[in-house]
Amino acid sequence: MSTQSANPRTGQVFGPIFPDTSSQETFTILESALSAFNTWNRTPAAERGRALAAVADALDAHKEELASLADSETGLGLPRLTGEIARTTYQIRTFVDALGEGKFVTASLDPAVDAPPQQGHPKFLRSVRGIGVVAIFGANNFPFAFSVFGGDTASALAAGCSVVIKAHPSHPQTSQKIFDIAQAALIGAGAPAGLISLGHGLSFGRDVITDSLVSAGAFTGSHRGGRALFDLAQSRTNPIPFYGELGSINPVVLLASGYTDATTFATAYIDSLLLGSGQFCTNPSVTFIPNEPGLLAEIEKQLASRDPQPLLSDATKLQHDQNRESLKSALPFRVLHGKEASSTGFFSDPEVLVLPSNQISGEAIFETECFGPTGVVITYESVTDVIAQLEKLGGALAGSVFSAVDDPNAGEVIEALARVCGRVAWNAWPTGVSVTAGQQHGGPYPSATSPLHTSVGIHAMERFLRPVTFQGFPDELTSTY
Ligand code: NAP
Repeated sequence: MSTQSANPRTGQVFGPIFPDTSSQETFTILESALSAFNTWNRTPAAERGRALAAVADALDAHKEELASLADSETGLGLPRLTGEIARTTYQIRTFVDALGEGKFVTASLDPAVDAPPQQGHPKFLRSVRGIGVVAIFGANNFPFAFSVFGGDTASALAAGCSVVIKAHPSHPQTSQKIFDIAQAALIGAGAPAGLISLGHGLSFGRDVITDSLVSAGAFTGSHRGGRALFDLAQSRTNPIPFYGELGSINPVVLLASGYTDATTFATAYIDSLLLGSGQFCTNPSVTFIPNEPGLLAEIEKQLASRDPQPLLSDATKLQHDQNRESLKSALPFRVLHGKEASSTGFFSDPEVLVLPSNQISGEAIFETECFGPTGVVITYESVTDVIAQLEKLGGALAGSVFSAVDDPNAGEVIEALARVCGRVAWNAWPTGVSVTAGQQHGGPYPSATSPLHTSVGIHAMERFLRPVTFQGFPDELTSTY
């Protein structure tokens, strides 16, 4: 098997063919990754930071070339992709700063207490080590921020781990280019050979996640793919942590007090829904609005005014179209139509599916992710209906509430959202995940495989740090540990 790029705007394949990485090559990659880990994990944090900074600088220096290549493979457009490179290098530099400040990597000392039990104990030095070799799987919709040198790779390297990356088949050339730039920068900064490596093909990913030399996995992608790899990671003789950031059904609740005019709300809703052709894990999947015909009419008007954008790949379009059809056949939606999309390339017509809350039956709305230009709007008569529906949702990455501060229903809605979401936004759409220490990107299953961790922000590093306590060591040795 092999991979070749396809242009989403035309459907034409182009560029080099990337053969799947063979089992023998995988073995060599993993041996080399383990050897690099043994060196890198003992490299001082500040030195690791300098090597990461060199990668950020090198990616920035190639940003035009990288954005143009990624645009030809993803159709996401130059402004969005250039912005994503800036976000990626900013994220790398936040880890550089964290390492410089000793965040997460500084040992904590619990001095000896000379007293009878329970108060008495020897000296404890609780320290951290990189967990080992980490397998990284990026998603198709973020060729930079969640790909070869996105947050997962940067946080694992910052933690002292080496990484083995599976290239995404929808942007193989971009993956290879980022890898080449990052590899040269790391070697130039004195990092060990084999610290990062890249492979291709479905079997490469499976081989890596099941190999005993690999100690953790980090994944961003679909529920189906993430669950398959999570199951492989857990069924090993020695199960390993697998941090999967998966697809999500993100709820948005508009309370009557939360909007004043239909045009402003509908414009912002359609902007958020169709951002990146709807291919965001945090886009507004199910939006609850009061039963206001004027608002629906405005949503329809805004939807019809936007030009369709291509989907990332043939496979993404197929999955989106299938999921939308299965949703439409499960429930009696009224369908609002956007402009008709081109029949060449990987386009789908934008649609908003509308249903009154008292006609929802079954779980389809809360289980079917339409990753693409499709939204669901639920009209409600009472906030009690909304709360009852939110209880059907398993877990989500992000949710929003639009409300006035003094709305008596706001508190109950916020609690209902916080029960299922990793992040709850106030009077703002869920799309857009700032890279900052307060960020939580990852919610309860099925939106992520670990509700306790984030893949965005400096806390992402905690996923790859294994605590080790050194008990009773003499002071002369303490600085070494
Ligand atoms: P995907 O189809 O799951 O692919 C992601 C990676 O997993 C690819 O490298 C893929 O390899 C591999 N993979 C998939 N199924 C596999 C299996 N059964 N065994 C081994 N490897 C497997 O996801 P995608 O289409 O790229 O991304 C879109 C999805 O990602 C959407 O659901 C979106 O919501 C989600 N997403 C989530 C986040 C988040 O932060 N939570 C962010 C962005 C996107 P092959 O393609 O070679 O099979």
